Order: sequence, then C-alpha cells, then structure tokens
Amino acid sequence: MLDELFGVNVFNDYVMRERLPKETYRTLHKTIDDGRRLDAQVASVVANAMKEWAMERGATHYTHWFQPLNSVTAEKHDSFITPINGGKVITEFSGKELVRGEADASSLPSGGLRSTFEARGYTAWDPTSYAFVKENVLCIPTAYCSYSGEALDKKTPLLRSMEAVSREAVRVLKLFGREDATRVLPSVGPEQEYFLIDKQIYDRRSDLIFAGRTLFGVPAPKGQEMGDHFFGTIKPRVQAFMNELNEELWKLGIPAKTEHNETAPAQHEMAPIYETVNIACDHNQLTMEMMKKVAGRHGLFCLLNEKPFAGVNGSGKHNNWSLTTNTGYNLLEPGDSPHESAQFLLFLTSVIKAVDENQDMLRASVASYGNDYRLGGFEAPPAIISIFLGDELTEILEAIESGKDYSGREKKDMTIGVHMLPKFPKDTTDRNRTSPFAFTGNKFEFRSLGSSASIATANVVLNTIVAESLREAADELEAAADFRSALHELIVRNIREHRRIIFNGNNYSKEWADEAKRRGLVRLDSTAEAMEAYTAEKNVALFERHKVLSRNEMRSRKEIALRAYANMAAIEGKVMVRMARREILPAVIEYAGEVAGSVNAQSRAGFEAGAEKRLLEGLRRETEALDDGIRALEEALDGRPEGAEAGEDARYMQGKVMPEMREVRRAADELEKMTERRKWPFPTYDEMLFNI
Ligand code: ADP
Ligand code: MG
Repeated sequence: MLDELFGVNVFNDYVMRERLPKETYRTLHKTIDDGRRLDAQVASVVANAMKEWAMERGATHYTHWFQPLNSVTAEKHDSFITPINGGKVITEFSGKELVRGEADASSLPSGGLRSTFEARGYTAWDPTSYAFVKENVLCIPTAYCSYSGEALDKKTPLLRSMEAVSREAVRVLKLFGREDATRVLPSVGPEQEYFLIDKQIYDRRSDLIFAGRTLFGVPAPKGQEMGDHFFGTIKPRVQAFMNELNEELWKLGIPAKTEHNETAPAQHEMAPIYETVNIACDHNQLTMEMMKKVAGRHGLFCLLNEKPFAGVNGSGKHNNWSLTTNTGYNLLEPGDSPHESAQFLLFLTSVIKAVDENQDMLRASVASYGNDYRLGGFEAPPAIISIFLGDELTEILEAIESGKDYSGREKKDMTIGVHMLPKFPKDTTDRNRTSPFAFTGNKFEFRSLGSSASIATANVVLNTIVAESLREAADELEAAADFRSALHELIVRNIREHRRIIFNGNNYSKEWADEAKRRGLVRLDSTAEAMEAYTAEKNVALFERHKVLSRNEMRSRKEIALRAYANMAAIEGKVMVRMARREILPAVIEYAGEVAGSVNAQSRAGFEAGAEKRLLEGLRRETEALDDGIRALEEALDGRPEGAEAGEDARYMQGKVMPEMREVRRAADELEKMTERRKWPFPTYDEMLFNI
C-alpha cells in the first residue's frame, strides 16, 4: 500500500513521537522548530531510539551523510558494534556520535579552505532533515565544516541563507501586522530531467563512461522535431524503472509526484512535491543517487549530464521557489484582500529587484562545465538572466508605476493597500518556457540549473539576494513616518528601477540577445567568465553581511568550480584523443583500405570507379583532418599551464583546448557519415536514443 510504504525508512516526526519519551520528543521538536542547539542528554536518548529503529530495518552501520563541494554526497560507514569481554559485541550509538562526527576528508575539495595536513573537518547533524535508512546504513543528514568553522559543504551556506531570508522576511511581515509569523522558509520543488539508455550500449562508449556525455556522434535522422516524445506513452521498460524508482523514493519519504517523457528521445522527468529547501536539497541528491541505482537493476544507465547528446535537448533542473511562513502562508500568493495584495506586491517586487541587482551571482550559481553546453542552446534559457511575469501581471505593475488603473483609466487613488489586485489568470498552459526565471502564479521557477547540479548553490544565492532586498525594504519602511505611502513609493521605485529585467518574449531569439544588450543586462556565456562574480567586491560584501559565505568561502567556491571546469575539459579532451586514435582511426583506415582495394580492382576490370574514388577522397580528407586534430588537441592538452591559478587554468582550457575538441569531433562525425555501419567502432546515436 502506497500510504504504508511512504517514509518506512525515515525516522520522521511520526516515528519520533512513537518512539521517544514525551519529554525528549518535545525538547527535540522545540530544537527543530526554533533551529536551536540540541542538548547532550536529549541527543543520547534520540540516538539510542534511532539505532533500535534502524536495526529493526536491517541497519548495521551509521553514517554522517553530507554534501561536499564537488556536488555528490559523501558517506563513511561505521558499524554499531562495540566489543565486550569474552569475544562478544554489543551495539552502541551515542548522542555524541549522532550530533557530531569527525571526517578526515583530505581528498574532498576545499578550494584552499583547508590544507591537507589539517584535513579533519567535522560533520554536525541537521535535525531539520530526518535521518533515514538506506540499504544497511542509518544516514544522518549533516553539515560539514572545518574546525575554524568554515563551510566545507553545500548545506551549511544553505542553512545560513535560510536564516537570512527568514530574518528579513519576518521583519517585513511585522510591518504588515503579521506578528504570528516567526519564521519564513523557502519552499522548493525541483523538477529533475534525465536520460535513460541501455547499459550494454553505455558500456561500449568510453565518452559516456568517463565524461557522462557523448563526445562524438552524428545526430540520428529523427530527433525531437515531431514532438512525439514529450508526454508520450511511456515504454514498458522505462515504466518499470519509474515504478521501482517511485517506490524507493517513497520509502525514503521523498514525495515523488509527477513522471513523464520529456522533449528529447530517451529523456524523462520526475517532479516531487515541494518541500522546505534544505530537505528538498537532501531529497534531490538522494533522488539522483536512486535514479542511477535503480537504472542499473533494469539494465539501464541513467545520464544526469546536462548535454549528453548533440542535436536534441539537454537536461536541466527547474527550481520552483517560494517563501512560506511557519503559519503556512505563501508570500508569493497574490492574496484576496487589498492588504494582502500590497504585501504580495512588496515581496514580488523585492524578488524582481534582487534578481536585477544580482544577475551575475544567479548566473554564476548555475555555472558548470556541463551546463555551459546547454544554456543558450535554443533549448534552455540563455546565459542572460531575465524574469517572465506574463502580460497581465506586467501590465498591473506598469499601471501601478504610472499611477493608472490596470485597465488604463486614470484613477484618483492608486495607492497600494487600497485596491485589490485585479485577478490575473494563473493558468499555466500557455506560459513562457524559454525564460530563465518565470513567475508561475505563486512561485518563481528558476530554470537555468543543470540537471546534475546540487540545488543548494542556486538556492543559497536566491535566498541571500532576496534577504538583501527585503532587508533594504524593512530598513526603509521601519523608519517611515507613514507606512502606507512609504510602501507605495517603495513598490513603485522597485518597478521603475528594475523593470529592465522583465521580459515576456522568446528568450531563445537572437532579438532578445540584442535587446538585452541594449538594456544593459549581464551576459556571461561560460563558467570561466561567470565564476568571477564570486570574488566581485559587491557580492562578497552582500554574502558577508548576511553571514552566508565569508570572503574566503566565496573564493573557495570559485576556485573549486573553475578547477572542476578545467579538469572536466581535460578529461574530455583525453577521452577524445583515445577514442579518435584507438577506435575511430583504425576503423576508418581499414575501411579506406577496402575502398582503395575496390578502386584498384575496378580499374583493372576496366571501370571508372567514380563513386569509390569520391568516397575514398572524402575518407582521406577527413582522416587527415582527424589526425591533425588529434595532434593539435594533444598538444593543447600538454600545454596546460602547470601550477596555474584556477581562473587561468579554466580560461586556457576554454580558449586553447575546447576549440581543438570541436575540430576533432567535426572530422570524426564526418567520417561516421561515410563509413560502413558495421565498421563504426561504437554505438551510434540511433542505437543510444531509439533502442529501448
Ligand atoms: P511544470 O512542469 O508545469 O513546471 P510540475 O508539476 O512538473 O510543473 O512541477 C512543478 C513543481 O513546482 C512541483 O515540484 C511542485 O511541487 C512545485 N511547486 C508547486 N507550488 C510550489 C510553491 N508554492 N513553492 C515551491 N514549489 C512549488
Ligand atoms: Mg515539469
């Protein structure tokens, strides 16, 4: 039964109430609700109950489960056993072990925050995210810091950014008389796109194995142009995968909700029901892990890379984001009274202001090597951040700004707080899917995230920049003599000064790129450029002010992202050299030999052999080009500056190595078009995308 299955492997509130002494439960709950520190006594009672519960579910080990800076999750398993006299063991799990762990994680990236000789960091339980059992391991969701308190993971800044946005939003809500809201939490529903291909086919391509995407390949004759895959009937093998995935996710308390085929062949999507952002983040990491595991059980491989195949859409992650009070009120819901309308308009325009003022940080927050191949490719939002509001809401804002009625009539009193917002349709059917940041009725959908990324990075930025514009609003309004007129003035100013970020048209068009330039919007095409935002003075000041990331932590994130970018390019370059030299060249040389033999034989028999000669010429030309390309690529890879700082490294790869990679692919793909099918050394796009 679905309802009985859901959360069976989660130490959730229900289990805690059942298993913990009343007093312990109450204290723990208070700690969780108020985000306070857990008392040692309470921790040991909780730990013991957790261990008993986990062992009933087959757990033998526990782990502090955390999210290091390389965007996967880390776990080191310790068993519950403690030896006693006589060669026996008892099982133990102490409060100390629950609350805090030491992690010698010297091989995890720290971006210079921690030198290897002082490699130890510590992990600390995040009690707002439930512990769970995965296979035979009790997993404790934790944050990971260095001994000096610097964040070595993605979760710590996420929790800090939640504090920041909550604090400032509560200040604003007070001004509206909403004393009941003591905390405001970002809610996030991340839609996850992915590809499924046959595992045996996957195993025969070293580009998929090492890079997670194809580095060679001629697009299949059919791509996504018929529009017949999106929402199409799900094939039995894929459905079997989805069913098992859902079950695994439900057991972990992950509210998997929607599943469907996506635009590209072999592409699919899973959307969960939204949750508080740190939990949504944990759950998304687990979802990606489960997708890979379950795929394996079905003889499939799940590709989470942003651009696995040329010529069809890549995969992203749509981050649906809103702010909810602890009393359950969505602050981006337009509301039913004049008072609520005014409050909605302040929150809405504060987000607009935040996005406009921090385009560079938002762009940087989704920057990665893989995502560079997707953004701006007429399939995903461009590398320019803008907001879609829809025509109705845009008109409303314009009317407010110009002091006119929504319908264009002159009105005497348009002061905010006096009038209800006119109803605007919240229908989502005809909404713009090309915008990077779209208002969709009661939430914003940030669509630029890469499919393999942790959602933490983007949400840290989103929460923090919105915290800042709410802080400015609160400062101004708290000091105002007349709240209502100050509020009106502020909303009008937010619209006037930041309207340039609003764009409701086609974001994929060339016209928009030109228009955005005229508007002075930021355009950062590559990760190498985008990551500079992390050390820009204005951004450092902002993140330090809200105590989300220190200067050092910002710098470390930039360094890790740039180094990962350069390393990824280097890996791909090396894979290309190997595949081209050891698989493609031998195959085409052999084939050209056969064709040459045929040319000779035909000539001896007195024929022209025109077709054979043309083919041979083509093969010769592109074989030369490929060979030249491989040499040039190798040379570029060898020239990678040793000991260069991360930015220089990334720029070198972008400027010197990646152009050679493009040329190698071009020549190889031309050869694929000419070479006999049976001679091509690895599976083609046709087989990868259309064989399930
Ligand atoms: P679409 O594909 O049309 O964008 P989906 O149903 O696939 O829509 O995904 C919408 C996502 O937005 C879901 O994860 C959903 O739970 C989430 N969502 C809905 N309301 C909110 C909200 N107020 N705040 C955050 N996320 C939300
Ligand atoms: Mg969707």
